[in-house]
Amino acid sequence: MAVGEGPNYDGNGQITTSKLATYDQMVSFLKDQDARQPAMELEVIGQTVKGRDIHLVKYISDPAKPTILYLTQQHGNEQLTTEGALEFVKHLGTGKSGDVLDGVNILIVPMLNADGAMGDVNFPLDDYLAKGDRNMTRYNAEEVDLNRDHVDKVQPETQALHNNVMRKYRIDYMIDLHHQGTRSQRDGELVSGSILYPTTPNADPDVVEKSKQLGAVVFHNVDSTGWGHLGKYVGGSAETISRNGIAVEYGIATLLFEMRGMSDHYLDGYALGLRSNGYLIKQTVTTLTATAAAIADGSIADADTSFWDSLATQTSRPGEEAEDE
Ligand SMILES: [Zn+2]
Repeated sequence: MAVGEGPNYDGNGQITTSKLATYDQMVSFLKDQDARQPAMELEVIGQTVKGRDIHLVKYISDPAKPTILYLTQQHGNEQLTTEGALEFVKHLGTGKSGDVLDGVNILIVPMLNADGAMGDVNFPLDDYLAKGDRNMTRYNAEEVDLNRDHVDKVQPETQALHNNVMRKYRIDYMIDLHHQGTRSQRDGELVSGSILYPTTPNADPDVVEKSKQLGAVVFHNVDSTGWGHLGKYVGGSAETISRNGIAVEYGIATLLFEMRGMSDHYLDGYALGLRSNGYLIKQTVTTLTATAAAIADGSIADADTSFWDSLATQTSRPGEEAEDE
């Protein structure tokens, strides 16, 4: 069964945050992995509004090699991307991802919006749907959307990312991982996710082409599985959004990946129950593993981007707004 099929509430399990890693659990996992993995470095790049340390996971063996950055949870209520990234970190330590680190440097910023992820915010959460020990919000503690702050960089989370990651490393590729609503479809079937490259006219055409190659690796590895079904995301050209702004400011090839369904929301139709968690975490692990491997062995340069010309833009089933990013 494709992850996109089936009803949301009863069919996909209860909407609850209780099975998701807390911020503290994530940090202790990362510290434990750092102690076990000689190739891994763990760095604090700044603090959230509420003072939580923001972490960067680094695997840099040779700065001359190509480098990819994976960013998760700019929106605190989109957590399965982080769960997948942590699983990927574990795989890098056990060798389950092969010798990929010989050919690529990997940077991971997981749970950028840790305050939103913990519901530790300066605004009311009365309308939020999820059961469990906490609610989770799109916005940071100051009710700001971090993925609209990539030009002005006012919030401490955005500043940490730009000052201590984007400006500090020579990064070639970035995937920005999100979740969207539950009711988006392509060719009549609900999608497990959707993808998009930079769409601002100010992005260098070579950067856009490299971004399309990054998307090609993701599409061909995910859509070919029994559970993956990807559409083209509907996204704007604003450079306040990382997909556009980071491509223009740093010349980095970027890809937005929107997984199906959020961990919490105040609107029906956005949040998705527990039963899809396994597929969506696997979708993230597959995405990170495949892209790192394609960069490491150079095959990304041969990725066939022609699928973009025929990939249908996702549409929304009635009664649903599909927007995220
Ligand atoms: Zn998002």
